[in-house]
Amino acid sequence: MSKHHQILIIGGGTAGIMSAAQFKRENSKLDVAIIEPAETHYYQPAWTLVGAGTYDMDDTARRMSGLIPHGVTWIKDKALNFDPDQNTVKTELSGAITYDYLIVAPGLQMDLDGIEGLREALETDSVCSNYLDPEKTWDIIKNFKGGNALFTQPATPIKCGGAPQKIMYLAEEHFQRSGVRDKTEVIYATPGSVIFGVKPFKATMEEVVRRKNIHLKTFYNPVKIDSENKKVHFRYMQQKEGGCTLNEDSDVLGEELEGDMTFVVPYDMLHLAPPQSAPDFVKNSPLAHQEGPSKGWMNVDINTLQHNAYKNVFGLGDVAALPTAKTGAAIRKQAPVVVANILHMMQDGQLDQKQYEGYSSCPLVTGYGKMVLAEFKYDNVRDSDPLLSTFMDTSKEKWSLWVLKKYGLPWLYWNRMMKGKM
Ligand SMILES: Cc1cc2nc3c(=O)[nH]c(=O)nc-3n(C[C@H](O)[C@H](O)[C@H](O)COP(=O)(O)OP(=O)(O)OC[C@H]3O[C@@H](n4cnc5c(N)ncnc54)[C@H](O)[C@@H]3O)c2cc1C
Repeated sequence: MSKHHQILIIGGGTAGIMSAAQFKRENSKLDVAIIEPAETHYYQPAWTLVGAGTYDMDDTARRMSGLIPHGVTWIKDKALNFDPDQNTVKTELSGAITYDYLIVAPGLQMDLDGIEGLREALETDSVCSNYLDPEKTWDIIKNFKGGNALFTQPATPIKCGGAPQKIMYLAEEHFQRSGVRDKTEVIYATPGSVIFGVKPFKATMEEVVRRKNIHLKTFYNPVKIDSENKKVHFRYMQQKEGGCTLNEDSDVLGEELEGDMTFVVPYDMLHLAPPQSAPDFVKNSPLAHQEGPSKGWMNVDINTLQHNAYKNVFGLGDVAALPTAKTGAAIRKQAPVVVANILHMMQDGQLDQKQYEGYSSCPLVTGYGKMVLAEFKYDNVRDSDPLLSTFMDTSKEKWSLWVLKKYGLPWLYWNRMMKGKM
């Protein structure tokens, strides 16, 4: 197998496969290779539905061999480190591989040691995460007998920032159906300051939270899980003169204050997104931001996706330090920019005109049969699809958007996006 490729892609996930497929559609003669160790690729957006018992986990999986585009070399291996000055990537089994252009797209990693006690808590039968095992989430939701149903997320960036709340809305509806809602307190504790940052979706989501009688706790950063006593410790994120005091609903929830700034909330079931970061081999490389709030994430220009120091290196997908939500939908708009830029550079050394404006979207499922489609770009500016918007107001809960989520988007993903057709 050749040790040099015109275009080398690290990671055969959403971003890697989409870009490889687009290159091949543009020019089938291009020499493209993907380094990817996994045998299976998952359509992760459907994991929210798996966690709510309304989608089959097996239907989210496809064999990698069937996804790698025809004519693309699959290097079934793991990238270990980079030497961008020598245009080289070191791998575990295949040694050094060199490239003309490199695309870094290995997604992100779950940091299970990022919250004290998280690893042990996940071993128990009342703690779950759609990010790790959505089938366990469904087991816990369907067998829930009442008490505190606590949903939370970490202070790190996470993929699909809406996922930790979507599963809560579905769980809340399921609790009504299973007859335990009136003996259940549903709690959403987030390190953020609001339930959703983009107007007008924010107003809709606030209304959903009100309607469902959810206890919304903002500025709550989960720092410790005491699974023996089934309690989560949250460090309050905002300065409070004189320290925190208990809240109006603390009694009903059994919430306590520990010291000045830590709330302790008991749970009977807990769903959370684990802390997340760029994979270690990126974090510890010259391709990552070395300082600042984006430290560890891939250091690319936010509009061209070109590395800020190494001009033949590009980054996209979850690994990239981009001030927008990390989603597959974002990648749909990022991949064409990277592909156009590399093709243009091959011709005359210049970048293409195409720019990425930060588009991302969050299909906010608010119940079985209801969804809001939040589409936005950099600076939290609404960026709803103009065609879809002629038929409906996507900032309102709609049954048709649920149908899009459950049937339309998976079809588009496997048959269009992963084939490089959109
Ligand atoms: C619960 C949940 C719900 C979500 N909901 C939505 C949604 O509704 N809409 C939406 O658009 N997005 C959603 N997402 C997010 C979306 O799935 C991701 O943003 C997207 O898959 C990221 O693509 P990626 O290519 O960057 O990473 P991935 O698709 O994760 O692929 C990364 C690939 O890199 C490989 N890799 C890792 N390390 C190495 C290495 N060292 N060498 C070589 N290869 C390596 C991995 O094996 C993997 O195949 C959701 C995610 C989750 C978990």
